[in-house]
Amino acid sequence: MTPRILIITGASRGIGAATARLAGAAGYDVLVNYVSNADAAASVVAAIESAGGRAFAVKADASTTAGIATIFTAADARGKLAGLVNNAGVVDAKSRVDEMGEARLTRMMRTNIVGPMLCAGEAVKRLSTLHGGAGGAIVNVSSVAAKLGSPAEYVDYAASKAAIDTFTLGLAREVAAEGIRVNAVRPGIIDTEIHASGGQPDRVARVRGMVPMLREGTADEVAKAILWLLSDQASYTTGALLDVGGGR
Ligand code: NAP
Repeated sequence: MTPRILIITGASRGIGAATARLAGAAGYDVLVNYVSNADAAASVVAAIESAGGRAFAVKADASTTAGIATIFTAADARGKLAGLVNNAGVVDAKSRVDEMGEARLTRMMRTNIVGPMLCAGEAVKRLSTLHGGAGGAIVNVSSVAAKLGSPAEYVDYAASKAAIDTFTLGLAREVAAEGIRVNAVRPGIIDTEIHASGGQPDRVARVRGMVPMLREGTADEVAKAILWLLSDQASYTTGALLDVGGGR
C-alpha cells in the first residue's frame, strides 16, 4: 500500500512532536519537520518507529520557499500526501508595539503566516480533486491569542494567529468542494518550551490561574484535537476554529 504521508511542520518538540506520535500510532507515515534540533526530531521518529509506526525527519525552514520545497519534495519521494499540520510557530520577547522593529515583525509573520500559507498552497496542489488528488485535511495551529490580542506581551504574535484564523476560514471555503477540509486548533496555555524561547520560562506558572480550568494544557491534549480534525470522524467539519484552552 502507498504510504499516507502526513506533513507536520515543527514536529521535533512540543505540540508538533505530540501530534507526530499520535499520528504515527494512527497509521500515518509522518514527516517530522524541524529547523535546528536534529536530536529532538530523531527521538520523535524513534518513538514512533518503536511503537510500530512509520516516520522520517526532514530538516527545513518552513518559513522559506526553499525550505518548503525541501519538505514537499521529501514527502513526494516517500508516498502520497494525506494531510498537513501547519504547526511551526514562534513567539518573541515580551514587548510593546512601539518597541517592535521590522526584523522582529518580518520573522514573526514569515514563520507564523507566510510559511503556513505557502505550505497549504503546496498541499492543495497535491490533495485537490481539481488537480487529480484524492482529497485530504489541513489543520492550522492558531492560538487563543487571536481572541485576546496579547497586549504588552506580543500583539504581533496574536495578530499572526488572527491571520491564520481568517486564512483557515477562507481556504476551507475555497477548497470545500475539492475534497479538502481545513480547520484550526486554538491552544491556550500549553506546557512546552515556546514560553522559554520568548524569554518567559515562568509563563505557564504565572498564567495558569487566569485559565477557567485553573491549569495549563498538555501538548497531548492539543494533539488529540488535531488528530480528530484530520480524521474521518470530522468528515463534515471544515472552517472550524477549535479552542483547546481550558475555557480561555
Ligand atoms: P515549541 O515547543 O517552541 O516547538 C516549536 C517547534 O517548531 C520545534 O519543533 C521547532 O523546531 C519548530 N520550528 C520553529 N521554527 C521553525 C521553522 N521556521 N521551520 C520549521 N520548524 C520550526 O512550540 P509549541 O509550543 O509546541 O508551539 C507549536 C505551535 O503551537 C506554534 O504555532 C505555537 O504558536 C502554537 N501555540 C502554542 C501554545 C503554547 O502555549 N505552547 C499556545 C497556543 C499556540 P526545532 O526543534 O528544530 O527548533
